[in-house]
Amino acid sequence: MILKKKLKFYGIKDINQIPQLEHLSSDQKYAMQVISHILPFRTNNYLIEELIDWDNIPNDPIFQLTFLQKEMLEESLFERMSRALNGNHAPPELNQIIAEIRTELNPHPAGQLTANVPYYEGEVVNGIQHKYKETCLIFPAQGQTCHAYCTFCFRWPQFIGNADLKFATDESNRFQEYIKSHKELTNVLITGGDPMIMTASRLEKYLLPLLQPGFEHIHTIRIGTKSLAYWPYRFITDPDSDQILKLFEKVVKAGKSLAIMAHFNHWVELSTPVVKEAIRRIRNSGATIRAQSPLVKHINDDSSIWIRMWKTQVSMGIIPYYMFMERDTGAHAYFAVPIFKAFEIFRTAYTKVSGLARTVRGPSMSATPGKVVVDGITEVNGEKVFVLNFIQGRNSSWVKRPFFAKYSETATWLNHLEPAFGLNKFFYEDEMKFMAQRKSRDVKIENDFNYHSKLRR
Ligand SMILES: *Cc1c(COP(=O)(O)O)cnc(C)c1O
Ligand code: SF4
Repeated sequence: MILKKKLKFYGIKDINQIPQLEHLSSDQKYAMQVISHILPFRTNNYLIEELIDWDNIPNDPIFQLTFLQKEMLEESLFERMSRALNGNHAPPELNQIIAEIRTELNPHPAGQLTANVPYYEGEVVNGIQHKYKETCLIFPAQGQTCHAYCTFCFRWPQFIGNADLKFATDESNRFQEYIKSHKELTNVLITGGDPMIMTASRLEKYLLPLLQPGFEHIHTIRIGTKSLAYWPYRFITDPDSDQILKLFEKVVKAGKSLAIMAHFNHWVELSTPVVKEAIRRIRNSGATIRAQSPLVKHINDDSSIWIRMWKTQVSMGIIPYYMFMERDTGAHAYFAVPIFKAFEIFRTAYTKVSGLARTVRGPSMSATPGKVVVDGITEVNGEKVFVLNFIQGRNSSWVKRPFFAKYSETATWLNHLEPAFGLNKFFYEDEMKFMAQRKSRDVKIENDFNYHSKLRR
């Protein structure tokens, strides 16, 4: 029997209301204040009361997951922000400093802003991305926040109210026409933020149209969510929990496959009675659950954590899916794990689980040309190399064509790698450049067009 809990968010203004934080020194609390001007901060009562081990802070992985730490900001940037707060700046000046520091944190990695924008009847469609042929990402306008914020989140700019950096659907719902007309799509991935932050009625508005005639090509609907880790009560005792599960059942009964793409970083998130019950209820609805997570220093950079996490997932009927490399944005320097180490962690864990857990792929980098996975470290003709592979490519013919990069112990991302064997570029680079030029020209033309049509109106 799960007792009802009411969601309570905690932001930076509430940190003195969290009794457990009395363990923290005033320096640590001050650091949180400073950094919260740059990176978003939100935690909640489930994390504080049921997941964090307060006898193990600041090292507890779940504490690191949502609580800001001084080292998340490079020292010179931290000092700059700290000085700015103690100086006599008018708000516009302070905002300018904040904006400058944020710009240094690479707020939109992997060309997210322009590279994946789709068009329908010659005009930009808001709120979707169509990068890989079969899959369209949908960013519901009402789903662009989360039950708590991961300190490593690569979508952090959208939580700090910078409208330029947001993509979200608009009232026109033209994205539905786009999906209907693109018969090469086989599935959509509803993402955010976290779509499960929406009420059941809102979520229905996104899911039910996909069950209508014209969408037969969409055989799978995925929902990307961290709610099982951050607010499992969503599926049990929230006022509309039953409506959510009925909606899931309805999607399944209509003949679609419904996949909950659950974001779990640590086995602790799978250990409470409430998450177990939430998983049971979701699976009972006929939906499947797949699990994915980035590999993050201070949170899960140890193969034993992954072994236990994947085993636990399999025993609960969850399918391990992806291990991601942490993207090069925000507090990346704090969280990044070098590629060689990520591969060792993945390999060690992978060799210690049964085939049922080896559905997982990784470590994978979601980079501009595609999802690149590290398949091995080996030596060819005396040269030590990384063996790389696309598991998704901007051009699908790039997939499963092994390519090689010089071994490195410092590289943390694809763009740090150099081609092996004396080559001066990777096989996909010319085509990628050509695609990028074509895209940016299109976007420019489109912008000019919109600008002129506004002038005419
Ligand atoms: C990962 C990803 C997908 C889904 O890829 P799958 O391999 O089918 O899970 C779709 N679009 C983008 C932009 C992605 O990064
Ligand atoms: S749940 Fe996902 S979108 Fe939300 S803060 Fe975490 S990583 Fe970012």
